[in-house]
Formats: sequence, structure tokens, C-alpha cells
Amino acid sequence: MSAASAPTSPRPSSRGLADISAHPSEPTPHAPEGAAEPASPSTLPGPARLTVLAGPTAVGKGTVSADIRARYPEVWLSVSATTRDPRPGEVDGVHYLFVGPDEFARMVADRELLEWAVVHGRNSYGTPRRAVEEKLAAGVPALLEIDLQGARQVRASMPEARFVFLAPPSWDELVRRLVGRGTEDAEERERRLTTARVELAAESEFDHVIVNDEVHRATDELVRVMGLEPRPVDATQGAGPVPTGRTEQHTE
Ligand code: 5GP
Repeated sequence: MSAASAPTSPRPSSRGLADISAHPSEPTPHAPEGAAEPASPSTLPGPARLTVLAGPTAVGKGTVSADIRARYPEVWLSVSATTRDPRPGEVDGVHYLFVGPDEFARMVADRELLEWAVVHGRNSYGTPRRAVEEKLAAGVPALLEIDLQGARQVRASMPEARFVFLAPPSWDELVRRLVGRGTEDAEERERRLTTARVELAAESEFDHVIVNDEVHRATDELVRVMGLEPRPVDATQGAGPVPTGRTEQHTE
């Protein structure tokens, strides 16, 4: 894959992204006729305030997010609402807001979500809008760890955000990580790999591609993209070649 040879390749923003809406019920906001093209996010001056991190299943988005949480507490990580059940170790309000389908539907209807999607054809996930707006208003660097459909929606409504794709070193390594974590049965793995193929094909839509070959390195690359200064890893935190996930059990 091209990303393997060019780990932090800045990408021109893709026009195609804003044209695709994942939800017919949520019309994609379009720029008014004749409106100027937004400046490429990569060329905007100053630190990025909103960064969107996407990437295929098992690539280690959750691990990188956890590393950010541990090493860069000044970055605010959005807590998504989801209809899926908590996994062991996941805390309501910390890892996710765990809600039922009715509550999720209400949040969508009341436009409380900045973006939302059904992921892997199963559960719904969405980013609560108000918390993001409050952090951005307060000047706090904010990070969303969401899927491709969600990234496309954010691109449509907030094109000034920075869009980062976390890529695996190779397809085989992605499969190895998915199988290795052992949290899905064969059918669910197939479902996730099908989504992963679609997501990998969308890599070129992102402003930056970071290859997750080593967690701390990938994290440092991400914070640099966010406009922050990477700092050395605390010796007590160790190296992280193998992702361990959003929780210890998981490696989205
Ligand atoms: P998991 O259930 O394994 O924690 O997450 C499954 C997928 O949902 C991951 O790809 C993750 O990035 C995505 N996801 C988590 N939160 C959100 C969200 O708020 N919106 C969207 N669109 N995807 C999300």
C-alpha cells in the first residue's frame, strides 16, 4: 500500500468526501452556490482544533486513542454514544455512552449527534455534538475516533477539521491483529474484514495517512498533525508494537 512507503503523507482534501452522505435521513449540508472552496485543512495556520481519526477494524485506533489519553491529557477525546453492549472493562461515560436503540433514535431526531452511522452492519454509533462544540469553543484540541461513514459526514459539516487515516503496515498484518485479539467469531471477523476493504479503499480521501507500525510512534505522528509537540515516552509506559485496543480486550 502506498501508505507504507509514505507514513505521514499530507493529502489534498478530497472533494468526493463531502458529496457522500451515509444517511438519507440526515441531508448532507452543501455549501451555498458560488461559495468559495474551503482552504485545505493541511494548509491552515496554527494548531488543528478538531481532528478525526478513522481506519479499518483492528488497525489500532483504540490503542492510539488510549495512548493519547495517557500521554497527552490536554487532548480531549470525544465519547461516542453507541447501542452496542459494553465489553468487560468498558465504563459508561468513559469509553462510550451506552444507550438503547430508542434513546439513540431520539438523539438522532433531536439532532444531538454531529455524525452517526451503523457500523459493521450491526450497532449504531454517534458523536454527541454539544460536547465537541463546547471543547472547540474553549480552544481545546479535540479528537474523534470514528468510522469512515462518520468521517465523511464530519467532512461535509466541518471541512476545516483534519482527517487522519490510520493504516495497517499490510493487509496480512491487519488480519493477524484481528484474529490475534480473539474477540470476534469467524462470521464477525469476515463482516469486519469486508468493511475493512471498503475503508482501506478510501484512504486517499484523508489529509494524512499514518501507518500504525508502533503505537507510540503513530501517536506522536498524530499529535504532530494536531499541531502539538510530541514528547518522549515515559519509561514506565514501555513500547507498544502490538495494539491492545480501546479497552484491553479490543483493537479497533
Ligand atoms: P467498537 O464497537 O469496536 O468499539 O467500534 C466499532 C467501530 O465504530 C470502530 O470503527 C469505531 O471507530 C467506530 N465508532 C466508534 N465511535 C463512533 C462514532 O461516534 N461514530 C462513528 N461513525 N463511528 C464510531
